Amino acid sequence: MASSDQHRKRMKALVAFTASSFDTEFPSPFGSAIYDERSGVLVAQAYDTVMQTCDPTNHAEINAIRDAARELQRLSLRGCTLYSTCEPCPMCISACVWAEIDTVVFGASTLEDANLYWPQASDLPPQELVAHMLLEPKCRLIPHVGRSLCQNLFTRCDEVRKERGLQLPPHRDGLRPRG
Ligand SMILES: [Zn+2]
Repeated sequence: MASSDQHRKRMKALVAFTASSFDTEFPSPFGSAIYDERSGVLVAQAYDTVMQTCDPTNHAEINAIRDAARELQRLSLRGCTLYSTCEPCPMCISACVWAEIDTVVFGASTLEDANLYWPQASDLPPQELVAHMLLEPKCRLIPHVGRSLCQNLFTRCDEVRKERGLQLPPHRDGLRPRG
């Protein structure tokens, strides 16, 4: 199992990777990485590609899970830790449960942080979905690792979008962040 120091280090690397999306056509504050704890190796790293692919399910965590399963050639990601710059939404934490991810480490909160800049579609906390996991051990959630770095991603992404006149996903534009 990775130490809290390793979690912070890996989150910092993920924040740097996610920030590299700001130089692309589709800047996003959402990034996810998966490490295989048996080898300590980074097996997948992805941005959210909802806008790019016009697919509302292509969140960063989903993209990372798909890449990791393909890379490791197995359907169960037991022994893996998933990192996300933001608290996973119900779809993504469900995907973690189905993929049998051991541990999920996240930075920013959905409602307190992300929703201020990027209106969210659900307020169902990941803990509630994990509580319904039938397999043991259940997925372990470690919140707020590198939270301020991740909050900063949201602020910077917002600035980048405004500078370049880029819109939020159109179906989110009409929503008012709850704050
Ligand atoms: Zn999600």
